[in-house]
Amino acid sequence: MQKLKTPAEIEAMREGGKILATIYRDLRPRVQPGVSEKELEAWVDKEIIRHGATATYKTPEVNFPASICISTNEQIVHSVPSDYVLQDGDVVSFDLVITYKGMKTDSAFTMVVGKGNGVKNHLITSTERSLYAAIDAVKGPVRTGDLGAAIEQVLKNAKLGIVRELVGHGVGHSMHEPPEVPNYGKKGRGDLLAPGDTIAIEPMATIGKEKITVDHEDGWTISTADGSLAAHFEHTILITENGAEILTQL
Ligand code: MG
Repeated sequence: MQKLKTPAEIEAMREGGKILATIYRDLRPRVQPGVSEKELEAWVDKEIIRHGATATYKTPEVNFPASICISTNEQIVHSVPSDYVLQDGDVVSFDLVITYKGMKTDSAFTMVVGKGNGVKNHLITSTERSLYAAIDAVKGPVRTGDLGAAIEQVLKNAKLGIVRELVGHGVGHSMHEPPEVPNYGKKGRGDLLAPGDTIAIEPMATIGKEKITVDHEDGWTISTADGSLAAHFEHTILITENGAEILTQL
């Protein structure tokens, strides 16, 4: 069970989610061959402040060394932006949490830098589709297994690897709240989600196998063990009486 959020707190998440979506809308055209991850991070950092929000990753709650995770190609999540200069055809994922009026919202997306190809587009569109399948599975009260089953079905049909060791989660007062929201599962199983609950659903998929590896040098970056490309999509949603409201979209 999640700690109840007041209507004012939900409204703050609604406003914060719109800010996050606005930053992503404005970030997309800047993701071009020749721009470095660090340059993009610096731009995002300024935008967060300009919108009156805070970069949650840089707060003591997380202590991440940057305001946004930028994970490229075989990197799945939690990668620290580096001096790496993006190249045509790179698959790059962005994951950002902001705090606005004390409340957190969390969202991620993956795109191809410059020109894509069939395999990369399949990875990205299928992973995004699995996120929306989970959101569509919310018809009022729902169990986390219903969401996991919806994600798993789309990714299995797409013949992609499902990252099982990382999960979605409750979000709002803190960046990570109960319950865990796995990207696989069985209908009717798992924790019950009730109207007023706010969760982040975040499928991660790979072209290859499901196994992941953590970079022991930086302690953050999680990559595919087989070096295959990965994608990650995430929205923060509010469970309503008869469905879901996506908070991190315009
Ligand atoms: Mg998350």
